[in-house]
Amino acid sequence: MNPDRRARALSSLRGSAVGDAFGACFDDVINHGALRSRTLLPGPWLWTDDTQMACSIFAVLNAHGRIDQEVLARSFAEHYDIYRRYGPGTSRILRLMRQKGYHWGELARQARGGRGSWGNGAAMRVAPLGAWFADDLDRVVEEATASAVVTHTHPDAVAGAVAVAVAAALSSAQPHVRGVELLDAVAARTPRGSVRSKIREARFVSDSSTAAAELGVGHETSALDTVPFCLWVVANHGHDFADSCWTAASAGGDSDTTCAIIGGIVGAGPGIDVVPPDWLTRCEPLPEWATATIPLL
Ligand SMILES: [Mg+2]
Repeated sequence: MNPDRRARALSSLRGSAVGDAFGACFDDVINHGALRSRTLLPGPWLWTDDTQMACSIFAVLNAHGRIDQEVLARSFAEHYDIYRRYGPGTSRILRLMRQKGYHWGELARQARGGRGSWGNGAAMRVAPLGAWFADDLDRVVEEATASAVVTHTHPDAVAGAVAVAVAAALSSAQPHVRGVELLDAVAARTPRGSVRSKIREARFVSDSSTAAAELGVGHETSALDTVPFCLWVVANHGHDFADSCWTAASAGGDSDTTCAIIGGIVGAGPGIDVVPPDWLTRCEPLPEWATATIPLL
């Protein structure tokens, strides 16, 4: 196991968890006053399904150094927690795997009437994988695809996952790549299709209100209406973890997921204290099962 890869991915996972838990504070309309004034709510902030599943990705990489789909599916099912607010499609897959012993491949293919899920669930959990393989972008694309199809086989969901993983890799290994250059670099590695087209459209957007209106903020919880907006925020605000999360949460929508994705990408960046310490202390810690160090043999 490569300690540099592990450290990068763990930073991304921490950033994603803090973003997820921060964004989840604003699912409830009573907290929107805090959003307008950018006032941090008191802790503990609890993270959701995004982090729970990202922990499985991290744990599999930590143990195997690659995405073993059988092991990943087992980990998703084993750690399924109804209180983490999973989407209905993923909930169904994980419950059927756990309770009835169905194979993930069959369940993922059958989702959404046989078209496969195009939800944002593959993208929301993948940033640590991008950080792990940041030194090898071909591998990022390959492993992100493998991780996505365990639950999400629709091309949009896969493209969303690849785009987020590539962005996290670039954030980690090439942090000077920002703005339009970042959007272009991510689009260049994203499979052809509607997600890539929308990432290319994002380069012409100049402010966050327009980004939210034109790109979407996850109201449909699809990869297409979630990932391009997140990438726009990272491209334009990603030098500042707090500002990028406030910008995303202020736009509304699926804010735990937009902030999880953004936090995972920005958190993959080099340097200590990428995540503000007062945010980190408010956030629920990561689970021991995910982060335990695997002894080197
Ligand atoms: Mg969530």
